[in-house]
Amino acid sequence: MSPFLQVNNLKVHFPTDDGVVKAVDGLTFNLEKGKTLGIVGESGSGKSVTSLAIMGLHRGSRARLSGEVLLDDRDLLKVSDEELRSLRGRKLAMIFQDPLSAMHPYYTIGQQLTEAIQVHEDVSKKAARTKVIDMLGRVGIPNPNKRVDQYPHEFSGGMRQRAMIGMALINDPELLIADEPTTALDVTVQAQILDLMRDLQSEFGSAIIMITHDLGVVAEIADDVLVMYGGKCIEYAEVDSAFHQPDHPYTWGLLTSMPRLDRLKLDRLLPIAGNPPSLINLPPGCAFHPRCAFRDSAPCACDEVVPELLESYPKHDSRCHIPVAKRAELFANVIAPRL
Ligand code: SF4
Repeated sequence: MSPFLQVNNLKVHFPTDDGVVKAVDGLTFNLEKGKTLGIVGESGSGKSVTSLAIMGLHRGSRARLSGEVLLDDRDLLKVSDEELRSLRGRKLAMIFQDPLSAMHPYYTIGQQLTEAIQVHEDVSKKAARTKVIDMLGRVGIPNPNKRVDQYPHEFSGGMRQRAMIGMALINDPELLIADEPTTALDVTVQAQILDLMRDLQSEFGSAIIMITHDLGVVAEIADDVLVMYGGKCIEYAEVDSAFHQPDHPYTWGLLTSMPRLDRLKLDRLLPIAGNPPSLINLPPGCAFHPRCAFRDSAPCACDEVVPELLESYPKHDSRCHIPVAKRAELFANVIAPRL
């Protein structure tokens, strides 16, 4: 049986006056129901563009898309606008980073969630409202009977995010895409939201794509992790393997620059040198080479030859010229002591 979601060689390119921006350039991954994939990377790595492509939200823009996004064997890049609209909400839904811009300021939370139900289900307003109040309660909004008639601006940031999660889940979507859903929230609310998503996943059996720059969030919630750099996947693994044997110098950089509360040592964090590349003018060869501290260990010119994504360990792929055994040695001797 084919996986529930298969993304095959997805490319999202934007033609501009200065050249083509290759925001996503040949991305392939699978996701089963009930599982969570964490997509990680810095700003501009292509992770959010990927989620918008799956949702069909580049339609009508200048973006050129190719490849396949198969959801239950149906290619979302090829379905009609009408079919896509009927799938959104019921089959796939998205939680955006900023709930204030994703919700309409002139309508109450209740009106917006009720409409989301009535687009897909032939139910009375009264029945839909009952379902909305129930959902608001389930996502942890106190006094849902009263809150249902309030406007987005009357909710705190955390409550608005919960309401948006409720809106995304109100039709029990089979695929939920969450784009940095906790970035704007304080840590205690972040933890509550992650717990909530986990609970709702076990209740509805949804597949979740969690887009984040935070490896801590991935460790907490994901089954698999895909690391993006310069529009490409540079490491793709089961989460345990990715954290115990990370296999790409960029992933090492993400890990050594991550603050950890469980460390008493006052070691300084080691940020990755330099800045993420411009997608319109990617460095030749391995796009990470201008920032890579390990390129001298590669047997060929990293600034000339593009590395392929190859299997290093079972269900663990990465894209680097350094031989796998040498990378394992570098990780054990140089990186692991700093973690
Ligand atoms: Fe670093 Fe070269 Fe590997 Fe790229 S291919 S990550 S530059 S060692």
